[in-house]
Amino acid sequence: MPNMTDNQITSNVDPSEIEKFSQLAHRWWDKESEFKPLHAINPLRLDWIKSHTSIEGRLIVDIGCGGGILSESLAHNGAQVTGIDLAQKSLKVAKLHALEGAVKGLEYLEVSAESLAQERPGFYDVVTCMEMLEHVPDPSSVVCACAELVKPGGWVFCSTINRNLQSFLMAIVGAEYLLNLLPRGTHEYAKFIRPSELIAFAEVAGLNVVGMTGMHHNPLTQRYWLGEGTNVNYFLALQRPAD
Ligand code: SAH
Repeated sequence: MPNMTDNQITSNVDPSEIEKFSQLAHRWWDKESEFKPLHAINPLRLDWIKSHTSIEGRLIVDIGCGGGILSESLAHNGAQVTGIDLAQKSLKVAKLHALEGAVKGLEYLEVSAESLAQERPGFYDVVTCMEMLEHVPDPSSVVCACAELVKPGGWVFCSTINRNLQSFLMAIVGAEYLLNLLPRGTHEYAKFIRPSELIAFAEVAGLNVVGMTGMHHNPLTQRYWLGEGTNVNYFLALQRPAD
């Protein structure tokens, strides 16, 4: 597994991305807001994670947790969750929401994945990094940090957006310009990641690919589902080999 340099630890963040999410932070828990799609897909990703491993009583780190949509649901399912993000406002909202709901087993930290990997190597049973990799300058560095954070035999679950004409038309033109599902500028085409690239990052980091699925959306029925076809959104299940 390659070592992180100090420079990577502090520099693998795009301040304009953090600003974008900070601006919207007060709306994380408004299910009709810009975050509606994340609320809609949350049960799907939670079930998908649970189809690979049990999460009750497990130590989980949720990287790029935002307002805590996934983190809270993991904690509700009995996991001990650390949510990390670099957007301070989002973390405040996440903490407040957990406090109001008296959610147990949840901590939120303002720290990069790379730094936490140095502080807590091999600490977590499960790492989740969903809808985040397409917002960082160097996603391979985050994947390496995921591999360092997870225990031998543990799981890493990632999701992101493929890079091709179809994903450009659906995730940017459709979602941001035609359907107004997401604010314009949420996603940048060049930062999308092909499955082959993500798999290569995982392999370099020493993780095995165990599963992959596409996530689909019908804007007319507003239904989301998982299934074959990774042309637009997709999830990857990775495992660190047992020692
Ligand atoms: N994972 C959450 C939120 C996805 S939105 C979910 O799926 O529900 C993307 C999140 O990544 C935002 O909260 C943003 O602040 C965070 N983010 C962007 N760059 C980051 C970085 N370099 N380190 C940590 N978090 C980052």
